[in-house]
Amino acid sequence: SNVVKSDIEIAQNAELEPIGKIASKLGLEDTDWEPYGRYKAKVSVDTLNKLKNKPDGKVILVTSINPTPAGEGKSTVTVGLGQALNKIGKNAVIALREPSLGPTMGLKGGAAGGGYAQVVPMEDINLHFTGDFHAITTAHNALAAFLDNHIQQGNPLAIDPRRIVWKRVLDLNDRALRHVIIGLGGKTNGVPREDGFDITVASEIMAILCLSKDLNDLKTRLSNMLIAYNYEGRPVFVRDLKVEGALTLLLKDAIHPNLVQTLENTPAFVHGGPFANIAHGCNSVLATKLGAKLGDYLVTEAGFGADLGAEKFLDITTRAGHFKPSVVVIVATIRALKMHGGLTKEELKHEDIDALARGMENLSCHIETIKSFGLPYVVAINHFIFDTDREVAYLKDWCAANGHPVALSKVWEQGGEGGTELAALVVDTIAHKENLFKPIYELSDSVEDKIQKVVTKVYGGNGIEFSSKAQKQLKSIQQNGWDKFPVCIAKTQYSLSDDPKLIGRPKDFTIHIRELKVSAGAGFIVVMTGSVLTMPGLPKHPAALNMDVDDRGKAIGLF
Ligand code: ADP
Repeated sequence: SNVVKSDIEIAQNAELEPIGKIASKLGLEDTDWEPYGRYKAKVSVDTLNKLKNKPDGKVILVTSINPTPAGEGKSTVTVGLGQALNKIGKNAVIALREPSLGPTMGLKGGAAGGGYAQVVPMEDINLHFTGDFHAITTAHNALAAFLDNHIQQGNPLAIDPRRIVWKRVLDLNDRALRHVIIGLGGKTNGVPREDGFDITVASEIMAILCLSKDLNDLKTRLSNMLIAYNYEGRPVFVRDLKVEGALTLLLKDAIHPNLVQTLENTPAFVHGGPFANIAHGCNSVLATKLGAKLGDYLVTEAGFGADLGAEKFLDITTRAGHFKPSVVVIVATIRALKMHGGLTKEELKHEDIDALARGMENLSCHIETIKSFGLPYVVAINHFIFDTDREVAYLKDWCAANGHPVALSKVWEQGGEGGTELAALVVDTIAHKENLFKPIYELSDSVEDKIQKVVTKVYGGNGIEFSSKAQKQLKSIQQNGWDKFPVCIAKTQYSLSDDPKLIGRPKDFTIHIRELKVSAGAGFIVVMTGSVLTMPGLPKHPAALNMDVDDRGKAIGLF
């Protein structure tokens, strides 16, 4: 029919298999996993140990050009490619991050893929799922409560309430909580101080959960988190408060990867969800490793464009997980390329070859980035029904003329069947193209050099400029010996620069470094550029206005 069904309508009509059947397909035994209802399960991290002598499958990383605010379909292509690989007879598993409720209720709606390439049950995945984000939020806020209580009870560690670097979190977009005063009301109600809220997906605990290799590693990383400075200016860590045990206890179930399935019953792990503009931005290392052990191919996604998610995946995540990707799929859409060519959102649905041609430089930049990491790549055109044949032909010809492997993906319209060309190209590229993977910088480089290398080699900028605040923080990082950590650069996803309005492939720009923040437990230095926020706000017309639930509990309008 001509009626385009919404994501949620398609998801609610899916024929799901009981999760036990999906687990058996993966070769898991009953003791390896625990059901969370009929269609969700947690697979024990111990399974990894059991499988340690089994060779790893190939890791396929999906990234994209700089997106429009609507997203370019990375999750859709990730899920669709997993389905398509199975269609062409390969044993493929998917690993995706868990959606955050902030953007779900705000701008984006659901984040479990789209069309006929979705992970299900999509309502659960988009709402409270297996409670991982609740556990992370609770562990994060428990630590804040322990810290304030320490000060209330006499403050033996001499924590300076003006130099606390641990805020509170909530998995919602709520700009009114960015800056708050707590502890008002007199002596029995705490010590007044300035505080603030971040969104849960920006929590260091989220990053730690995604980078840890087991429960012990999780505990060590939690104990190393920096929370404040004392009156002498020396750092105070979680281990000084002796609460790492309690925090680990709160996360003991959240650490196990969640198993679900796609609309075509392809196994999918959905686990962890740090933002890619303010954290490292991909699902847990444990889910990726587990998927790669259980499948011959593991398809995973890194958030936003290759300048943000993929760079961090390649410089941070692969180091934490000790693995390397086999190929990178760069998702491009004709609408985003035309936007980079200067069109407004309203003009994107009209054919415009000139704008498309101008926009190609954004794709070029991301291709060069992947090449400079030494990795084979494939361009996937995520096809929209209003793309014209001439536009598609132009994009394909441009790729062919420049020697870039390319395939059209129609997984949104057709599911796995629409991605078989892409799947075959990916398999062929892994088998035949040379893989010389190497991160962009060395951990031994200075902090400035690390940032400089990402800015010049990935963003295409000229250089960097530190605010006076960032300069002071840099000194403290060096004095405390944190300068060997990788850098996690927080930047707008819309532009290669730190100015969201500079679309296409901007030249001659400087990246402004506002603030440096040490995540000593996660093991990276967060570099805040431009005006990136760690607590988003809601738009004028939040996606929540379209949501409802009927009297039988069926979700409506989650996209
Ligand atoms: P990303 O992972 O890049 O943020 P998503 O895969 O979440 O993007 O897709 C964003 C939205 O766009 C989803 O609502 C999805 O259904 C929709 N979408 C993705 N690909 C297509 C397509 N080819 N045609 C129409 N809608 C699409």
